[in-house]
Amino acid sequence: MKLRYLPLLALALAACSSPSKPAEQAAATSPDARFDAFKNHFIEAFWQQNPDYASSQGYHRYDSLLLIPNAAQRQADAAFVAKSLASLSGFGLDSLSPNNQIDLRLLRNELLSERWYADTLKGWQWNPAGYNLGASVGDLLNGRHFPLARRLRNISDKISHAAAYYAAAQANLSNPTKEHTALGIKQNLGGLEVFGAALADSVRKSGLSEGEKKTLTDRIAATRAAVQGYVAFLQKQVLPAGQFRSFRIGKTLFEQKFAYDIQSHFTAAEIYQEAQHHKAALLHDMGRRAARLFPKYFPGQKAPADTLALITTVVNQLTLKHAPRDGFVEAVKRQIPTLVVFVNEHKLLTQDPSKPLVVRETPLYMRGSGAGASVSAPGPYDKGANTYYNVEPLPADWTPAQAESYLREYNDYTLQILNIHEAIPGHYTQLVYANRSPSLVKSIFGNGAMVEGWAVYAERMMLESGYGNNSDEIWLLWDKWNLRSTLNTIIDHAIQVDNASEKEVVTMLMRDGFQQEAEARGKWLRATLSQVQLSSYFTGYTEIYALREELKRKEGQRFDLRKFNEQFLSYGSAPVKYIRELMLGTAGREAK
Ligand code: ZN
Ligand code: ZN
Repeated sequence: MKLRYLPLLALALAACSSPSKPAEQAAATSPDARFDAFKNHFIEAFWQQNPDYASSQGYHRYDSLLLIPNAAQRQADAAFVAKSLASLSGFGLDSLSPNNQIDLRLLRNELLSERWYADTLKGWQWNPAGYNLGASVGDLLNGRHFPLARRLRNISDKISHAAAYYAAAQANLSNPTKEHTALGIKQNLGGLEVFGAALADSVRKSGLSEGEKKTLTDRIAATRAAVQGYVAFLQKQVLPAGQFRSFRIGKTLFEQKFAYDIQSHFTAAEIYQEAQHHKAALLHDMGRRAARLFPKYFPGQKAPADTLALITTVVNQLTLKHAPRDGFVEAVKRQIPTLVVFVNEHKLLTQDPSKPLVVRETPLYMRGSGAGASVSAPGPYDKGANTYYNVEPLPADWTPAQAESYLREYNDYTLQILNIHEAIPGHYTQLVYANRSPSLVKSIFGNGAMVEGWAVYAERMMLESGYGNNSDEIWLLWDKWNLRSTLNTIIDHAIQVDNASEKEVVTMLMRDGFQQEAEARGKWLRATLSQVQLSSYFTGYTEIYALREELKRKEGQRFDLRKFNEQFLSYGSAPVKYIRELMLGTAGREAK
């Protein structure tokens, strides 16, 4: 995610200054060519304004920049946004290709949302965790794009302003939330590690001159002092003063944030209703399937009368089937070809055999995040690189009980659903399609709800097409899996808007979601620190599924699933509401 708290650099968005180039002669005549030229200028300017975000996306021209988060910076940012919005208004939506129509709307949303974050949500006032030099310096140090000496020179320039950076941070804070203050302390203490022994060691063995080494070593010491000063300010002044605001942002801000972050044609309130409804439907389906499965697994025994107890009993039985501790990665590897064949045989979409997915053990430097499997996609500036499916072997130091609990969570049924979600035809397949209509704007400002929604939709679409033989077992475990993202949406709203307490939320997740207490408490914590993000999976999924059903009704006999899937994916990682307009042929009619 973009780090919204980042201050933006004063910078005039240069107009095309070399009108003699051929591309810009075409600009005089074709709106699309003119818009393409605008996008290139805009993105370069945007990177200069957001150097940390640029580095994280593989654009390393501004690695050495550190922006000071003060009022002057915020004014410069406002000016940049105003100027860019004015430029955007010079393009008529109807005059552009569908691809560019979406890009124009993504850019407009991005700019309006930047102003809303700065002027209305104002996280820069209440989120002390928004300031952390350790995180960005750590990324620069560990990156592989430049040789060590060059990385260290960039770091040296960047941290030379550490004191001013943290002074501005301190001045910005006013009545922060208690939760984000605790997080700011924890993360900045973690960030201090970046400026510790490993960095000093890198400096010593680098090819920097003695003078450069001395300068950098002094700057590291000054940065450590600045971080420590900030942590002390939070611990000794902010915490004892006790002047906190609530972490709950309330109904108005939540609805606005939902609109900017998700860009759905549903409102937050509508999605909340939809999630409640979907939760009831999932529980009903689970009860029905558990009742059918009980006699198969517990012949001659009496089923629990309580439906939730019955579901728990059957789920606990099914999760006993799982990969062996040392065979987890192998189990994933074996499933991928099966998924490829199934998608082909059932004509769900056309796959590109020239872009194989490389399954590998998660590299050591990426381990430990708790994600058992993830897809590493090449960034927008590194398109030719491999796409990896990283699967993490179980840590050797886990106790047998820890390992068993993990293996049961990713049992034989759920593991297949996970592979569909992450790989085929989920995230990996979506990415291959997105790369075919390359748009830097969609790579940089792409819609997370669409990306996650597609992966969840892909799970259901595979099962509906007969993957897993339509068995009660796989559907029951899909229901449980899907219940998690549904409940994420419910608690996000319940906590941020309706004041739900920790006790209410944890009880609900354990009882209705069949979650362990540790998972439920972790979810509560996450829901106090973020807003709307937890709602993105379910919202994207709901929108995609609803769009498919809408087209099915319209097209009747003519509806073709493969055609739907391929057309849907052809627009890249765009908000579902814009894809919907294009697929329904209503582009441009709704609000610009
Ligand atoms: Zn076991
Ligand atoms: Zn996902």
